[in-house]
Amino acid sequence: MLDDMLDHTRELRSKPVWQDAPESVRASFQAPLPRKPAELAQVHQTFLEQILPYGVGNTHPGFMGWVHGGGNAVGMLAEMLAAGMNANLGGRNQIPVQVEWQLLRWVRELFSFPDTASGLFVTGTSMANMIAVLVARTRALGKTVRQTGVAADGRNLVAYTSAGAHGCIANAMDFTGLGRQALRQIAVDADFRIDVPALRAAITADRAAGLTPFLIVGTAGSVDTGAVDPLDELAALAKEEQLWFHVDGAYGALAMLSPEVAPRLRGLELADSIAFDFHKWAQVPYDAGFIIVRDGSAHFDTFASDAAYLRREQHGLAAGSPWPCDFGPDLSRGFRALKTWFTLQVYGADRLGQVISQTCALARYLSKRIQQHSQLELLAPVGLNIVCFRYRNAKGDSLETSATGALSDRPRLPDGPGQLGQLNELNELNARIVIAVQESGLAAPSSTTIAGQLAIRAAIVNHRTTRADIDTLLDAVIQFGNTLEGHSVEGDPA
Ligand SMILES: *Cc1c(COP(=O)(O)O)cnc(C)c1O
Repeated sequence: MLDDMLDHTRELRSKPVWQDAPESVRASFQAPLPRKPAELAQVHQTFLEQILPYGVGNTHPGFMGWVHGGGNAVGMLAEMLAAGMNANLGGRNQIPVQVEWQLLRWVRELFSFPDTASGLFVTGTSMANMIAVLVARTRALGKTVRQTGVAADGRNLVAYTSAGAHGCIANAMDFTGLGRQALRQIAVDADFRIDVPALRAAITADRAAGLTPFLIVGTAGSVDTGAVDPLDELAALAKEEQLWFHVDGAYGALAMLSPEVAPRLRGLELADSIAFDFHKWAQVPYDAGFIIVRDGSAHFDTFASDAAYLRREQHGLAAGSPWPCDFGPDLSRGFRALKTWFTLQVYGADRLGQVISQTCALARYLSKRIQQHSQLELLAPVGLNIVCFRYRNAKGDSLETSATGALSDRPRLPDGPGQLGQLNELNELNARIVIAVQESGLAAPSSTTIAGQLAIRAAIVNHRTTRADIDTLLDAVIQFGNTLEGHSVEGDPA
């Protein structure tokens, strides 16, 4: 199994980034419950033939579709050790919990948080953001809200984030009973960063309407364009308004590992809490999300319970309080800390930082090539590692009468019905290009919408990606663009 996985990783480049599974493979997962034992070798063979070739492709250097990490061999081995040990990290007196606390200490150091900050591993940033919403809620309404529920309090809590924020923040408001409508999605500026004056105005208006602002969620590395909100300004505003300041740094927060990119995160160290994923830019195998909270007691007060079976002692197996289960909703918890501990130690934090710098350099290379090509145009500034662009047409005409094709000509919505038809056609063409490139197995970009324009999105996260992979993506986009456009120009008589 080990040899097979190492071979697979070494030979990734010769395989398609992604391929759709044939019906026969799908059908094999409709089998009835296996009552009798089978040979391990036989089941492994089925894995090799019917599962391994049909993943999303995020270990492949040509995968740029979404912000997915590439994983790493050291993390893979550590997962085997963790499974062998089969540790349950809800709590109790065991060294695996100390490994998790070691990671917490490293995270505090990285973000310049105090020794009293708390934190723990969770599935991912979606869960980490939800935990932050809950801690902020408890801070705003007091611990009794855990008994009475939010409705009993009578105050209507409202939170603020940007229109470019990840959807899981609205989900967190939903799941915690505060409701999506209690999340204000503030407009973004030309660089897709939250508009701070508009945010200030929204807080003032909500207070005037008798509502209770309690939380600002900033984004460090937005999922669509890689935008980083002005975190220092958000921190100052939150302090002035006495609101909780949480940062969704799902992938961007770990740019603190890169001395070159870290200055872009100024203000992150002022957050009350930060959610991020080791499984994205830090390349730790899935899943390894993390939440850190500056005020450890506010975090503890939100989750700790006094169930009899969780009783603590000074000695024996029930010693070592507080436990991870005091800081989140999970009691049974896997040993995510081990693969992260191994990855950080074996490669070293600096090397992981270099990977982050390198993917940002590749994004700059991609954006430069796009700007040099008459059939391509950038749709958003490239701040970190995400590039949004589109194919225009063979003559290089664009909707805008742009002389330079440069970003000073920000994408605009069409003025009239004629232009709207043209835009729909262009959006349709780019959506088809993305699917064609994915199905070719050459590269895997995704699509998103930027100001009404369908963008081809390349998120460069994988440590294995090189310039050659960027060139392959661009060649494929142009080739499929030319072919598909040729078809639509000739017209289909049907
Ligand atoms: C990926 C991402 C999330 C969601 O994180 P998960 O680990 O997938 O739960 C949230 N916010 C941003 C900005 C992201 O990039």
